[in-house]
Amino acid sequence: MPAPFHLHAPAAPHAVGELFPVRNVFAYDQAAAIDPFLLLDYLGPATVAPSEQPRGVGPHPHRGFETVTIVLRGEVAHRDSAGNGGVIGAGGVQWMTAGAGVVHSEFHGPNLTRDGGELEMVQLWVNLPARAKLVAPRYQDLPAAAFPTVALGNGGSVRVLAGMFDGVRGPSQTHTEIALWDVALPAGAELPLPLPATWNRMVLLCAGEVTIGGEPLRPQHVARLAATNRSPVVRATRPSRLLVLAGAPLGEPVVAHGPFVMNTAAEIDQAIADFRRGRMGRLDV
Ligand code: MN
Repeated sequence: MPAPFHLHAPAAPHAVGELFPVRNVFAYDQAAAIDPFLLLDYLGPATVAPSEQPRGVGPHPHRGFETVTIVLRGEVAHRDSAGNGGVIGAGGVQWMTAGAGVVHSEFHGPNLTRDGGELEMVQLWVNLPARAKLVAPRYQDLPAAAFPTVALGNGGSVRVLAGMFDGVRGPSQTHTEIALWDVALPAGAELPLPLPATWNRMVLLCAGEVTIGGEPLRPQHVARLAATNRSPVVRATRPSRLLVLAGAPLGEPVVAHGPFVMNTAAEIDQAIADFRRGRMGRLDV
């Protein structure tokens, strides 16, 4: 019998600036399998000590995709060269479309810096289709209250972060056909996956314990399910929180170089040149 899912296990923790600890769960070296997603980093869970100076990542560029930061606990502050900024707290989502290019910084928020506390968040990179790679940058600051919640019949619930669940649409504006759900399940409950059969679909377990087709999935691990409507049964064996990431594959070439993800090597060279010439804007520290 084939395995019920393909496992993406988190890598050893590494520091991204001082937003530590970060574990990469998947990245664009597997772009065809995870299309239209590019990368998933899991920050924490960690306890942050109070600090005089905010910890984080200073100004750096992106082009050709969207960075989506989902805050489970703690807060993150954002500023970018398009003039956007804000602080995202627990349950909120920061949806930044880098498009043609943006320079931004990502730091712990002021309350987390002053008081310390728990930090747990997910950063997901969502690819842009070739026709939208050079759109103007956009910033969506979506607090927890922005998201509709759908009660499941089994005692669980689904917060719709993007796309649709059971006829309810999330507020995030996207350039790709995707669904992003923040799901809570009590012990014994099954996860419904009402998704188009052709979409890639992945389950990230944040906390708790689930089995997929009878096989256990551990926290901070991603299960990539086969694209079909006969997915293996996902069942919580303890109260659990998980994210579902699903989307229509773009089927376009992915050529990536660090913070730039384009379709051709020439476009990467152009991105590097444009960044060096200041064409992605400036952000003073
Ligand atoms: Mn960034």
